[in-house]
Amino acid sequence: MKRNRESSEDKEAASEPSRALAAMRTPLPQPDFSALAESDGAFKSALETRTKSTDDKTVLDLTKVDEEFNLCLTRAILKAYFSIRYFEIPRSHLVPPVPNRHSYVLWINSLLSSLSPLSSSSRTTLVRGLDIGTGASCIYPLLGCRAFGWEFLASDVDPSSVQSSGDILERNGMKEQVEVVHCSVDDKSNQISSALGASKAPHRLPHFVMTNPPFYSNSADAESARQDGRDRTAFTSCESVCEGGEVGFVKRMVDDSVRLYRDKIGLYTAMLSKRSSMNEIIAFLKSKEVGVGGNCIHTTEFCHGKVTRFGLCWTFADCAKRFCNDGGDGNGLTNAEIRERVEVFLKENQREDETFSNEEDGSISYAKGKDEWKMRIEFEKEVDEVADAKAAVNVRLTEFKDPKAKGHFKNFCERLSGEVFRTNRKWRRKKGK
Ligand code: SAH
Repeated sequence: MKRNRESSEDKEAASEPSRALAAMRTPLPQPDFSALAESDGAFKSALETRTKSTDDKTVLDLTKVDEEFNLCLTRAILKAYFSIRYFEIPRSHLVPPVPNRHSYVLWINSLLSSLSPLSSSSRTTLVRGLDIGTGASCIYPLLGCRAFGWEFLASDVDPSSVQSSGDILERNGMKEQVEVVHCSVDDKSNQISSALGASKAPHRLPHFVMTNPPFYSNSADAESARQDGRDRTAFTSCESVCEGGEVGFVKRMVDDSVRLYRDKIGLYTAMLSKRSSMNEIIAFLKSKEVGVGGNCIHTTEFCHGKVTRFGLCWTFADCAKRFCNDGGDGNGLTNAEIRERVEVFLKENQREDETFSNEEDGSISYAKGKDEWKMRIEFEKEVDEVADAKAAVNVRLTEFKDPKAKGHFKNFCERLSGEVFRTNRKWRRKKGK
């Protein structure tokens, strides 16, 4: 009972445009430990046993900062800012530092917004992300869903992380917004295709891909002392090591993006631990002709305390614009689905003296009266199973007598595009499914 009540409160908190939402959409302030301790008893206890007195002040004793403290801090921030009430992860799994992860999410939002004339709050369609290697905490989906209302497909190769992320989403009432899938490390295909292949909706391509990959290529490097002398945070071998380290991981993503998806996905992004990794991957992208011509590469830095991480994004030609302009309308529909929607739209909007008929070449002709005006609605030939929705329908005014027909035609095209390229969710609701 208690859980249900909490989750509906959470949904309310997440959907209400309020100061809380504004706070989620701007960089988090430096954590105020006393304020967090006041609002969170568990954090208060964790803090009390880890302070020391210097001069007249009581400060955090950094030598006592351990996994338990980090977990309590992450929980307190997630609760205070993002209404995440349940956050449990299996021991020895990476505890995500929220400010760093949040910076990455904000950067993605700014990339989406810079490609779109619509601000994130006025964008009407649902943005879908793919988080590769979501970890035991599914931290990016938690932040992206709460702050921006995005939906996610999230993947991981570690079954215990898939389980734990699933529990966190369930207990916070977010199962509908995020699908978590398990991918096999032995899978010969790369990370994007394995995640989509494991999804229940493989045709629903994401608008952006994000990843914080395992940094190292071997366990000796992962376990060696940090150069800056800080203690290592706890992590599992899955979280820290993969073939080729972060460079190898992201190069496989680049291959996947070049070979299979290109402009069907708007933004490809990764967070890297070293500038040298970023430079190596940029050189690799350029060798694949990404980052030249209309394709773009964007980079940024995320600085928190002593830690700097590097954000890398690549896109193909104008695709990002096309997909992100209005949140990717129609993305992932098949040609057949688009045709079905056009037909439903015509039936619903047909006036008494208007008729439409299917032509032999597959187009639809739509006419008013005997010869007042005629339009031709053409469909792209079925080259790909999943259509580029915006290019899939072409409407032409072929004949008209009355000059007013032009205005009517423009209006018709706008309404058709608004209706047909609704998100799947709105369309299903409309059809009463
Ligand atoms: N996203 C989390 C966890 C990052 S650790 C965070 O930022 O805190 C990297 C994660 O990638 C681990 O959970 C690891 O299990 C996962 N991983 C490693 N190889 C993978 C692959 N090929 N496909 C998907 N996930 C992978």
